[in-house]
Parts: sequence; C-alpha cells; structure tokens
Amino acid sequence: MPHGKVTWQIDRNVNTTNVCIANCKFCNFYRIPGHAEAYITDMETYKAKIEETIKYGGDQLLLQGGHHPELGLSFYVHLFKELKSLYPNIKLHTLGPPEIAHITKLSTGPHGEKSTHREVLMALQEAGMDSLPGAGAEILTDRVRRLISKGKCGAQEWLDIMHEAHKLNITTSATMMFGHVETPAGTL
Ligand code: SF4
Repeated sequence: MPHGKVTWQIDRNVNTTNVCIANCKFCNFYRIPGHAEAYITDMETYKAKIEETIKYGGDQLLLQGGHHPELGLSFYVHLFKELKSLYPNIKLHTLGPPEIAHITKLSTGPHGEKSTHREVLMALQEAGMDSLPGAGAEILTDRVRRLISKGKCGAQEWLDIMHEAHKLNITTSATMMFGHVETPAGTL
C-alpha cells in the first residue's frame, strides 16, 4: 500500500474466446477448436457488457481468453481499436503473458520473419491496451508449469514478457495460483 493510500477499480471480466489449445489441467472454461460450445465474442456482446459496466460505475474491462490457434495479432489490434473508438474512457486491462507468448508465436513480420514480444506488445499498446494482467503465472517454476499448464509459456518467458512490458511503461500485475502441486520451496 504505497503512501498509505487504498484504491479500487470497478471492472468486468469479459472473455474474447473460449477456444484454447493450451489444455491446462485445472481449466473447465476452454473448449477445443470446433467444439459445439466454442465461441468468439461478437461486438454486440461487448457493447452490451460494456454499457452495463459503465452503468454500474465501472471503467475497465479485464479482457482475456483462450489460446485460439487462429487469432493472432491483427485480430487483437482490430478488436482493441474498435473498443477504444466506441468507448474511449474504458481501460483495457487485457491478455496476459501466456497470451502474448501465443500471439507472438503466431505472428510474423512483412517478410515472414518471426515477431518479438516487444513488437507484439508495442502493437497492442498502440491499439489500446492500457495494462497487462499478470495472468497465467500459476507458480513460476517450470516443474509446476509442466505438470498443470504445459501449453502455456515457461517461467522465464513469462518474466521476459513482463520485463518488456515494463520497458514500454505498461503497468502490470501478477497472480499466483497455489494449493495444487507446488512445494514450499517452489522448485522441488
Ligand atoms: S490457457 Fe489454460 S487456463 Fe487459459 S483458457 Fe486455455 S486451458 Fe484454460
């Protein structure tokens, strides 16, 4: 609690898509590509949810979703730009290091060269991403990650993405999910 100040944020969780190929052991949210319950949220749904959020005093979306195998950087750039043009005062607290890693893997430059985390973060920031949630940290050791969320980026890549975000002055958070297969030492 810096400077003895307590603050709060009224926001709403909205999911971009439930399609995911990461296959985390603890997740009952995702659906595999082609599943009958798979969805990609449409603009009418975003509008209804954002307008309800504003009505109740909210000013931020926590916007996340699965690792969709076909939704790359251009999809998110287009989405963020559209949301910001419709609702310029809504903050987009969006994606997370594992999604940035996934989008980076799907992205290439104009001559087919591989994109970097920094390039992806810069494009998303330019499109309207205000901050990066510290999602998917679980426990930042690869032993734990291999056991429960093998399809997500490893511990070092999670940290590298956060490092790049901080260099771009993107504010971030961090979440730890515990009470599963971790040990007190974390790395054992
Ligand atoms: S990355 Fe893991 S936790 Fe997130 S939607 Fe996919 S399976 Fe679920």
